[in-house]
Amino acid sequence: MNKTKTSFGLMILLFAVLIILVSIFFTNIYSFQTSFFKTTGSATSGVSDILSPRQKIINYTLGDCVFIPPENKTFLLRIDDLGAWHYFETVQQMIKEIDNRNLSASFGVIPYELEKDKPFVKMIRSIKNKPHFEIAQHGYTHEPDEFGNLDSIQAYILIEKGRQEIINNLRVVPITFIPPENEYNSDTLIALEKSGFKFISARDSEYSFEGLVAHIGQDAFTADYYEKRFVPVQEVLSNCEKIFASKNLCVINIHPQDYVQDENPEKIDNEKYTEFLNLLDEIKKSGLESLTFKDLIRC
Ligand SMILES: [Zn+2]
Repeated sequence: MNKTKTSFGLMILLFAVLIILVSIFFTNIYSFQTSFFKTTGSATSGVSDILSPRQKIINYTLGDCVFIPPENKTFLLRIDDLGAWHYFETVQQMIKEIDNRNLSASFGVIPYELEKDKPFVKMIRSIKNKPHFEIAQHGYTHEPDEFGNLDSIQAYILIEKGRQEIINNLRVVPITFIPPENEYNSDTLIALEKSGFKFISARDSEYSFEGLVAHIGQDAFTADYYEKRFVPVQEVLSNCEKIFASKNLCVINIHPQDYVQDENPEKIDNEKYTEFLNLLDEIKKSGLESLTFKDLIRC
């Protein structure tokens, strides 16, 4: 009889301990989540200020990852149109200058036939592990408006082909996608989610976080193809300054072909190239930080 009583008492005790442990666990989880999202939210300005706290949590979560907006005004240099036989000398020089200044940059690489241009592959492999550089995927073959009219299956096939080319040749898994001519549709987004991409950088000043892929479009550019002119460095920077009024990130879109000789695109045009160097120097002088897309996410 006594033995039964003791066992019963022991069971009650164990049960009570269990309840206490479970309640401690849930309390900690709740406070962890609360403080985590508080930190993320308070680090933002602009868009986040308009959103309610509840929206903040929903909007900054990308699947298993969290988008962390920069705390201070930040530049993001997006250099498009790298690829096999694409202005090798100019691209190599540009990468060196960015590296020398310890600035960050995301390089949009066209995946098509990468394996056939060994010097390019070798050059990218030599810089891909630098923490201030990111290798992004720029379409597949880079035809004009390559993705604007594709359905999700067609888009997925091309995106995957390109992704595999980048993985196999450059040994990098890209998480940022830049569609040629900044054109895409809702099916492109379905395909990108399926392929595990975290960012799409396309249309002017897009900045939204619905679904699994963050939209971070270009905010400024160094050449205006409609007006066929270089955008002077001071104009690029003042465009960024306007952007900084609403968010702490200014994506500057740059193309290597803007700095090559008209008669020989394989060679740098030193006069045009001075514009690029001026931009890097002004960014450096500003004292503001530069980041890549991949720096803005924690998974
Ligand atoms: Zn392009």
